[in-house]
Amino acid sequence: MKISASIRSLKPSATIAAAAKAKELKNKGVKVYEFTLGEPDFTTPQHIQDAAIAAMQAGHTHYTPSGGIAELKQAICSAYERDHGLQYQPSEVLVSNGAKHSIHNLLTATCEPGDEVIIPTPYWVSYSALVELTGATPVMVDTTEESGFCMSADQFASAITDKTRLMMLNNPCNPTGAAYPVEALEAIAQVAVERDVLVMSDEIYEKLIYEGSEFRSLPTLREGMRERTVVVSGVSKAYAMTGWRIGWAMGPAEVIKAMDKLQSQETSNPCSISQYAAIEALNGPQECVEEMRKEFAVRREYVLERLRALPEVTFAEPGGAFYAFFNVAAHFGRPLGGGKVVDNASDFCTALLEEAHVALVTGDAFGAPGYVRLSFATDLETLKAGFDRLEAFLSA
Ligand code: PLP
Repeated sequence: MKISASIRSLKPSATIAAAAKAKELKNKGVKVYEFTLGEPDFTTPQHIQDAAIAAMQAGHTHYTPSGGIAELKQAICSAYERDHGLQYQPSEVLVSNGAKHSIHNLLTATCEPGDEVIIPTPYWVSYSALVELTGATPVMVDTTEESGFCMSADQFASAITDKTRLMMLNNPCNPTGAAYPVEALEAIAQVAVERDVLVMSDEIYEKLIYEGSEFRSLPTLREGMRERTVVVSGVSKAYAMTGWRIGWAMGPAEVIKAMDKLQSQETSNPCSISQYAAIEALNGPQECVEEMRKEFAVRREYVLERLRALPEVTFAEPGGAFYAFFNVAAHFGRPLGGGKVVDNASDFCTALLEEAHVALVTGDAFGAPGYVRLSFATDLETLKAGFDRLEAFLSA
């Protein structure tokens, strides 16, 4: 069967592939210490589940408008006004099957062959793959551990050409956990306004911010930024709702309308029941978000303590999200657990899984050779056992 060239060259999501590999081992009866997937281990709060049940019982089990029901769009607008003082109209909001779907729609609606899309690196796996699907060219801007994996305004300015169509910012960042300092974000916003560049601001981890860091939504930072930003977010991470598949994009009505047109052809609408659950998530009590954040903060402290004790491993402390991203390159070319010798992060992850049954994701997938990503969206007991094994593997 002939498969199209663009799909032939599309790489499968590395995080999903790493999780599948771990699962394969688990299915053979092996106890695997799994730190690959970026999803909260908490169950969706009860009041949100109840709202979904009530929605079903009220008969909300039919097609909805393609870009989401008016009540949810309004709830999203109200949440941004409450949390960030931002005023959006429902016509500036699109609800999708998860933030990933909104990102795909945005790229498809705005990019074409010949365009360039600036991506600070390390980047979330899907960014480059989805840009390539449109035929546009990803332009990677490398950031370093020393800068906390934050792209500077100068780096951004230098990457802009007359072909630049979009810049994809992710704050806080998956995989690095980088939370941009407000001044750094302001400087980036200034460049975007001066050079008139559209920015996708993926703020899906905005509620998961730790002591010492502060979150500010990009459009609030500078006059002229609201017109040049498409905010992407969703309920997956903050409300432990990964499986419900509700995300959104918020930005200039013209772009949103184009994305909605595309979405109406791709998929009739996001799940009706999930949309009602998302209204409750946004309008209902918010204490659950802080309770989960506090739990992530405890795990983050533990992870940092364990990372500091690992031999010859370097990292920048994550200010947000639930990932630790660390450099293991010092261990390449020398025997690890089971006598395995590796020379890149992908082989490191394979050896670690086979020998120690610890599953991490290779930094190669995020454009960061030498690094590995550990998701601490898992309980402390598993983290402890995983770190004990990782430490033994490195010290063999
Ligand atoms: N953006 C980033 C940076 C993510 O890490 C993820 C999920 O891992 C998403 C978007 C997609 O989230 P959703 O579940 O809403 O599709």
